[in-house]
This record gives sequence, C-alpha cells and structure tokens, in this order.
Amino acid sequence: MDQERIAHAVREILEAVGEDPNREGLRETPTRVAKMYAEVFSSLGKQPETVANYKVFHVTEQPEMVLVQAIPFYSMCEHHLLPFFGTVNLAYVPQAGRVIGLSKIPRLVDFVTHKPGMQERVTTDLVAELTRLLDPAGVAVTIAARHLCMEMRGVNKAGQFTYTNRFTGVFKDDLALRQEFLQQTGGSNGQLR
Ligand code: ZN
Repeated sequence: MDQERIAHAVREILEAVGEDPNREGLRETPTRVAKMYAEVFSSLGKQPETVANYKVFHVTEQPEMVLVQAIPFYSMCEHHLLPFFGTVNLAYVPQAGRVIGLSKIPRLVDFVTHKPGMQERVTTDLVAELTRLLDPAGVAVTIAARHLCMEMRGVNKAGQFTYTNRFTGVFKDDLALRQEFLQQTGGSNGQLR
C-alpha cells in the first residue's frame, strides 16, 4: 500500500475542508491515517490464496453443526469510508468430514472485513469463502452491525442495528436446523446477539 500517497491525500482533504494541516494537532495526522488505512484495509492485494491456505482437516466422526457465535468485526463502508461494526454468527454442516480449525473462522471474518465493503457483501463473501474452502453441506451466516455513516448523519438513530443473513444448503432446506441455529444465536425473533 502506498502510504506516502495516502498521507498526501489526507493533507489535501484537510486543506480542502478549511483546516491547517500544519497546526500542531494535525501535523502527524496524515501519516497516522496512512498507517491506519494500511491496517484496516490489510486484505486488499492479498486475495484468496490467504484463505485457500487454511488447512482442511478430515474427521471420521463429524459434528452435525459447527457454530461460532458473536465474532466481533470492524469494517469500513465503501460509500462513505466510515466504520460499520458488529458481530457475526457463522455455522456450517460439514460434508465428507471436512472441517477447518475453529480459530480460522474469526480470521476468515477479518479477511473479508479488512477492505472497503458493505454488510451485505460481508455476509455473502463469508458464505462464498467457506463454501469454496470446505464445500460443506450448508452454511448459515447472520450479521448485526451498526453503521456510523447512518448514525453520524442522523439517517438512523444511534445504536440501531442492521441485520443481514444468508442460509445455503441444509440451512436453506431444513427449517428445524435453521431454527436451531437461530435459537442458539438468539436470532429467531430478530434479536441477534
Ligand atoms: Zn456508508
């Protein structure tokens, strides 16, 4: 990532909004923002191989459902470059005994959120990556998030959540299984946690 160029652009923005980029409090801001962008957009440029490298294990007695609950995430909305953040609940039903290490699931969430994006696409990207990686019998993803671009501009009340979900395979076809996932994640009545 070209941090020098980011810093230059931030200086431009500060001037354009009528600030003095040379005043004491702002002097280091452009380089600080450049460093921060390198961190929050760290997934850019390291496309899918990162995820494809996740080791797939083969288990003989496979669990019915693998569920990781309330994974925190922070991302930047691609329309305003302001944060949206919240939690992800993700479950899959393995097929042919294929599973990944549980710690890889939060890392997968980091991977799909560390770039400019939208909550809808985070939801579908998670399903797509997990499907590509494991070809499981089904995937369930629910996300509850707050969007600062809506809250700061008064479009939404502060603290209001936006919910998205996607169910594939057995989670789509088997309503009892989907219900079990929603109950475990507290989402059956839309009150995700
Ligand atoms: Zn936005």
